[in-house]
Amino acid sequence: MKFGFDIDDTLINLREHAFHLYNKKLNQQVGLEHFHALTGIPIHEPFGLTKEEGGQMWHNNREEIYYSACPPFPDAIEVLQELVRRGHEVYYITARPADHCERTKEWLIQAGFPVHKDRFYCGMGDTEKIHIIKKLELDYYFDDKPAVLETLTELPLQVYVKDNSYNKHLEMPRIMMWNELLAILD
Ligand SMILES: [Mg+2]
Repeated sequence: MKFGFDIDDTLINLREHAFHLYNKKLNQQVGLEHFHALTGIPIHEPFGLTKEEGGQMWHNNREEIYYSACPPFPDAIEVLQELVRRGHEVYYITARPADHCERTKEWLIQAGFPVHKDRFYCGMGDTEKIHIIKKLELDYYFDDKPAVLETLTELPLQVYVKDNSYNKHLEMPRIMMWNELLAILD
């Protein structure tokens, strides 16, 4: 079967990683409870930044956010490796900007994710993911972002939301931890 995965905040804990970096860069000690209470995707608010300042902060630190040691979610690498071992196809579909695609692919490989060079899609908009998902005829797709997931409800595939504080309102099958996926398949 064909499995598609978003990367940021689906397979890797990018926003929390950025939250720690913001604390360091801004010389603040904002507690993680503020992170877990966020009801939207942007993380700037607990640091007292405006939307514009937050956007600038993310933009200025994007290199470090993307390519320093962002931790994968527990078992994400092992579960994807197991899928490949079982003969399934693993696809990555990320809306990271086009100029970050090659390095993102390299980063995934370095981190230990199983990456097939023809199964990595990058640089599209959130609402364009649906076209790739359709074309690939995926059997399963996993994402964290409401703006993406909401476009996929009519498709004939299994769509799962990777649980996060800003997507609790979505009523669709939900993955809390990656070790649940193999149990779902069994
Ligand atoms: Mg994401």
